[in-house]
Amino acid sequence: MTSYDFDLFVIGGGSGGVRAARIASGHGARVALAEEFRFGGTCVIRGCVPKKLLVYASRYSDAFEDAAGFGWDAEEPTFDWPRLIAAKDKEIARLEGLYKSGLDGADVTVFEERATFVDRHTLRLSSGRTVSADKILIATGGAPNIDDKMEGIEHVITSNEAFDLAQFPERVVVYGGGYIAVEFAGIFAGLGADVSLVYRGEKILRGFDEDLRDAVMEAYQKRGIRLVLGQVFTKIEKTGRGLVGHMDNGAHLEADQFMFAIGRSPNVQGLGLEEIGVKQGWNGHIVVDKNSATNIDNVFAVGDVCDRFNLTPVAIREGHAFADTQFGAKPWEIDHQMIPTAVFSTPEIGTVGLPEHEAIEQCKVLDIYKSEFRPMRATLSGRDEKVLMKLLVDGESDRVVGCHIVGDDAGEIVQMAAIAMRMGATKADFDRTMALHPSAAEELVTMRNKTETRRQAGS
Ligand code: FAD
Ligand code: NDP
Repeated sequence: MTSYDFDLFVIGGGSGGVRAARIASGHGARVALAEEFRFGGTCVIRGCVPKKLLVYASRYSDAFEDAAGFGWDAEEPTFDWPRLIAAKDKEIARLEGLYKSGLDGADVTVFEERATFVDRHTLRLSSGRTVSADKILIATGGAPNIDDKMEGIEHVITSNEAFDLAQFPERVVVYGGGYIAVEFAGIFAGLGADVSLVYRGEKILRGFDEDLRDAVMEAYQKRGIRLVLGQVFTKIEKTGRGLVGHMDNGAHLEADQFMFAIGRSPNVQGLGLEEIGVKQGWNGHIVVDKNSATNIDNVFAVGDVCDRFNLTPVAIREGHAFADTQFGAKPWEIDHQMIPTAVFSTPEIGTVGLPEHEAIEQCKVLDIYKSEFRPMRATLSGRDEKVLMKLLVDGESDRVVGCHIVGDDAGEIVQMAAIAMRMGATKADFDRTMALHPSAAEELVTMRNKTETRRQAGS
């Protein structure tokens, strides 16, 4: 028996923290968890879940338009933003309740308040109470970056506010070229707003396979989303007609709402990490080893606060592995390879494995299979949109090292491809697999002709 109040104290009731708390408690540990905002964390309250609900909502405009080609006549549809937000809020509250009751059911002691370090075994809660624990897990997630020094920044929203706008903005400027900017540009455009996407580089979605980046840019332009590239904002001004964003080339954009999505930073401010000497990285992220251990032997961290792969399933699995390892006598490590991911743009990106620019660094010979085609639905709907499918194959081992898709359900398809790739599937395995017809995904097992073979210099 230790002299501490708890065996484990978890700071943060989001994806990683809740999973770790429940599993550790299941292993018999005395567990407490503090959450300062709402249970479920970013993903449930103002991330993946409400975002995907808005994505679904935004895609009905295509469905209404496409229906005519299939013989449907309907009156001009109208859209009610407050109704959507109210429905979304109800669902989020339901999920939040499930998270909370899951903790209660697992016998986790819950504190609905902020926790900060006093020393490596002691935390102070915002009520003033202090609690002690043998081990402490930091699972505090991240928060949107905002440029506090920019004039007029108080007029700007981030993804935190975008989910709760009282009024639908008819003209929106989204700033950034990453996941959130691209997804929200698609959401607002699908719901009928006039959208500009402003990005400091020349091509959005840096780090993704070049063909995916090109395909989404082309599709967004066709959908009427204005891409303003190579620009940064210097000032946001409020005028009688709305907001005006001034860019460094002297040009400006006018809109009802400016949403900044220029990255996120770990939630570490005021936690007391410096006082106890927890090692942090360039943006404050907590440095951990493969077992989520920090340099302080009883302090651990999982999820976005470590800024490794800032995705919900990763945070959950890191929390699970931590709890099994520390409290279940079942040590295991997360494998951060081959993590599938989707960008819920419209059209959607699904991707797993290496993008071409990385694959060519790792494979002496790289075989590229690429197919671009008109989806069957577009034959009758008349929609001018293409599907892109790309497989990257190590020419020496025949293993599929990258699978990249732009098109309907790309995320769903890639989740399945990831299983095969995780098992080391070769292109021959893909080719041996019977096609499922008619589907878009069958293209992955019927791509016979190489588009290109690339060789590393000297190979
Ligand atoms: P969080 O879920 O952020 O939880 C941290 C919790 O800690 C928060 O609830 C916070 O209130 C609490 N907290 C912080 N400090 C303290 C403190 N001192 N005391 C008490 N409580 C504290 N990922 C995907 O995989 N798919 C997606 O589609 C996706 N979409 C996203 C869309 C948006 C708009 C955003 C912002 C993120 C999205 N993500 C998505 C990323 C995903 O939400 C995060 O990777 C995930 O939530 C990280 O989980 P976490 O447990 O590390 O942190
Ligand atoms: P990202 O890191 O994906 O993108 C940030 C964007 O902002 C980049 O285009 C970046 O440009 C740009 N940027 C960064 N700093 C500045 C600056 N000072 N001025 C102007 N532009 C800047 O972050 P997000 O905020 O979009 O999302 C955060 C993370 O959340 C994602 O990386 C992802 O892990 C997760 N997420 C996952 C989703 C999913 O799974 N579908 C959806 C949403 C979020 P540059 O590329 O030039 O650096």
